[in-house]
Amino acid sequence: MTLPRTPWTFTDGHTLDVGTLYCIGRNYAAHAAEMGAQVPSDPIVFLKPPAAVVAGDTAIDLPSWSADVHHEVELVVVLGTDLDNADPAAALDAVAGYAVGLDLTARDVQAGAKQRGEPWAVAKSWKGSAPVSHVVPRSTSGDGPFEISLDVNGQRRQYGSTAQMERSIATLIAFCSRLFSLRAGDAIFTGTPQGVARLQPGDAVALHLHGLIHAHFTCRSAP
Ligand code: MG
Repeated sequence: MTLPRTPWTFTDGHTLDVGTLYCIGRNYAAHAAEMGAQVPSDPIVFLKPPAAVVAGDTAIDLPSWSADVHHEVELVVVLGTDLDNADPAAALDAVAGYAVGLDLTARDVQAGAKQRGEPWAVAKSWKGSAPVSHVVPRSTSGDGPFEISLDVNGQRRQYGSTAQMERSIATLIAFCSRLFSLRAGDAIFTGTPQGVARLQPGDAVALHLHGLIHAHFTCRSAP
């Protein structure tokens, strides 16, 4: 049996196999505050597998085992080259491009895991938990600052600028390269601004990386 792979698709038409998704928690102070949490002294990192990625203009499948799947809109940094022990000054040279995506979170499952001191893997990393736009090549996008936002049924739910991030794109890449080493096709989800909330079947979701790329999804109950 071979299951379909969703690659990174760039706006110039080329593709890249998806690797590991490194997701950063609490990188915007206002979101940490709305979760009743502090900005951590070191970045919080968790992983999603390649099967988490869903390409734009399709469906978001809301799993039956959660009653509270939240949207977290985030700038997504896609790496184009391998990187190990990089310093922040060199880190940006490994970036292939930028996208906007959702770090979907089963908040009820995550709350139970936090309470019991268990990992977040189920709450954060199920198949389809990372809907993502096409990727804008760095040669077109530059390195920001970027504005990202999320609309649900035409209403703005989240907005943020990467200028508000507690740790910069370069710092996050360097941090991950030191701990994990990075491969071409890996990506970093750079954290969400405030305004996270529940998605429901039938919701129309629009993700924006302002001036560069947009993606649309419709939520449904997972078949
Ligand atoms: Mg997140």
